[in-house]
Amino acid sequence: MPDDRLVIAIDGPSGSGKSTTARAVARRLGLSYLDTGAMYRAVAVAFLDAGVSPDDTAAVIEATTSADIELSLDPDERWVRVNGRDVTAEIREPRTAQNVSAVSTIPECRADMVRRQRALMDSDPRGCVAEGRDITTVVYPDADLRILLTASPEARLRRRAGDMAGKITEDQLRDQVLRRDRDDSTLVDFQTAADGVQLLDTSDMTLAEVVDAITDLAEESRP
Ligand code: C5P
Repeated sequence: MPDDRLVIAIDGPSGSGKSTTARAVARRLGLSYLDTGAMYRAVAVAFLDAGVSPDDTAAVIEATTSADIELSLDPDERWVRVNGRDVTAEIREPRTAQNVSAVSTIPECRADMVRRQRALMDSDPRGCVAEGRDITTVVYPDADLRILLTASPEARLRRRAGDMAGKITEDQLRDQVLRRDRDDSTLVDFQTAADGVQLLDTSDMTLAEVVDAITDLAEESRP
């Protein structure tokens, strides 16, 4: 690997702004961008496609480990394919968000995702910005810069409501943010910053301010 390769790991709960932020930072620094949540979502679509019940752990593991997942690492292009099918829009639908925890709460599924995510992060010689729930702690604890983005529940609900603009009900919104955080927290702690991880509370920050703050930290931590 070249010496100036830069790897940035960003974790946070849903609605913390991590996807938009990570994409913007990758664009500005000329790095690839990995949305690890999109991979979990793609697997949820794959098991639903296969008619598998979320309660059938063995079948969810099989659907996960056998899924062919392809996704864009270009911050300016957004596409995800699973088993040869384009699921870019489908992974954002409420049905996917409702079922994705069935994948992320199974240790065997997480191990498979982590292995693939490390390989994708290492595939660009310039480096990568990756975001998710366990990037700073499990997937890439050796990243040059590790950040935990937080925001108050009110700010997160407001942001997610903006993302989904009129496409979901109030109940679906609370399910997507608050219930999902609870389920997601069963195997991974993404609410407290681990040793060496910088905490950034974005509740009262604009996107531009968050991107500037992370870019400044990245310049300081360049290898
Ligand atoms: O970030 P996003 O909301 O797209 O993530 C979708 C889901 O994928 C999360 O609710 C969580 O269950 C799972 N996930 C995870 N670990 C990651 C990224 C996402 O468990 N690193």
